[in-house]
Amino acid sequence: MLIVMNANATENQIERVCRQIKELGLSPHPTPGLERMAIPVTGKTESIDTVQIELLPGVMKVVRVGKPYKLVAREFQPEDTVINLNGTTIGGEQLVVMAGPCAVESRQQLLEIAHAVKEGGASVLRGGAFKPRSSPYSFQGLGERGLEILAEARQETGLLVVTETIDAENVSMVEQYADILQVGARNMQNFVLLKRLGQSRKPVLLKRGISATIEEFLQAAEYLLSEGNNRVILCERGVRTFNSYTRFTLDISTIPEVKRISHLPIIADPSHGTGRYRMVAPMARAAIAAGADGVIVEVHTHPGEALSDGSQSLTPENFRKLMFQIGKVGRAVERELAGEKESQEYHG
Ligand code: PEP
Ligand code: MN
Repeated sequence: MLIVMNANATENQIERVCRQIKELGLSPHPTPGLERMAIPVTGKTESIDTVQIELLPGVMKVVRVGKPYKLVAREFQPEDTVINLNGTTIGGEQLVVMAGPCAVESRQQLLEIAHAVKEGGASVLRGGAFKPRSSPYSFQGLGERGLEILAEARQETGLLVVTETIDAENVSMVEQYADILQVGARNMQNFVLLKRLGQSRKPVLLKRGISATIEEFLQAAEYLLSEGNNRVILCERGVRTFNSYTRFTLDISTIPEVKRISHLPIIADPSHGTGRYRMVAPMARAAIAAGADGVIVEVHTHPGEALSDGSQSLTPENFRKLMFQIGKVGRAVERELAGEKESQEYHG
């Protein structure tokens, strides 16, 4: 933070500013310039109300020079964060694929899809038990019964489970069943939820808000880290643009930029990012090529009958094709698919 004084600021005014800064537990470093005094301030300046400092007599302006996030930044931790979950790593050399239906609809539906994505090579099973829907009349999910079904599918397949938790009170329940706790796009700035998840011992998959800037996205992650949870996976899932042809616009450029700024892993969600199943594979390939640490995709055995997001769901057959392609694109960018067998080939 930098405090710039008026050209005619008096000694007393400068002293008063320095005193106030020290009272806030920070260090002022008054530096005379040709025309005016500048006071760089060091310490934990994030929580300082700059407007209050600007009200002090003799102050011209206060400039924040630091970034609004810290723990998520590469300056804080130069090496990539690698999350290890029972041998599945997220953020390291391996690419992770999370796949499954948008929502858990029934035991039979989920088990069938879980087996299909496992066979295809996914290592994490997705499926919403609590569904925050745009319309109150749409299917809202099976709730705890859905979580039980997910846990059964994990038992049967050995897949890890990622599922959404919708508010702070809901976390304790979801924590009992899931391996990774998902924060939905619409909840990215639910700070009460983020603080609660920051105290969880489970990793968090944080989806980008539909109109969130990269800075807002990273600040949401900062909430989690600042509460002590550093096992955070970011997810680019598309933002709202003028384009109404697709559901959202998958902002692939965010991936290399977030990788540059932050040490956290970032995956892409080409299902919600496009809303159209035909675009899922091309955008998944593009995201991997751009440096994503993996993808999360929706898969349904009967997309036409899905209770939510059928239009963006891949069939198991298309999912298998995509896995093969991800393996190839991954090798081109020196990444390998988790659990990939060298000899694996697609015969379809
Ligand atoms: C989902 O993953 O099913 C979902 C609702 O995603 P988002 O929060 O990104 O819309
Ligand atoms: Mn969905």
